[in-house]
Amino acid sequence: MTPDEEDRVRTLYSGAGDLSGGQSGDSNEVNEFLDTLIKVGALEGAALGIAKQLRHQGVDSLTSTQVAVVHRWLSEFYISACGRCGGEIPWSEMYGAYLGGGMCAYCEEEGC
Ligand SMILES: [Zn+2]
Repeated sequence: MTPDEEDRVRTLYSGAGDLSGGQSGDSNEVNEFLDTLIKVGALEGAALGIAKQLRHQGVDSLTSTQVAVVHRWLSEFYISACGRCGGEIPWSEMYGAYLGGGMCAYCEEEGC
C-alpha cells in the first residue's frame, strides 16, 4: 500500500472524496455500506473489528496498518460501475452488485 492509497481510503471515509476517482463519497452512504458488510457477516476477525471502529470512531482513529486492511477488503467489495451497462453503482446497491457478479440491479434483473 502506497501513501497515495492510504490517502484515498482516508479521504473516502471522510466523506470528501472517493476511491476510484469516479464516484462521490457521501459519508452517510459509505457508512450504510459499511453497516451492510458488518450485518451480513462479510467481514471477519480483524477486518470486522476495524470496520466497527471505522464506523463508530471514524477513519482518523485508524492506524496506517488498519487503513491498509480497510483498503484491501474495500477493493474487493467496491464496484463503481456496472460490468454490463457501465452505469454507476451507488453505495446503497454496491453489496448487491458484488453478489450479482458486478452488475447493477437493473442488469442483474434483466440477465444476460
Ligand atoms: Zn447495468
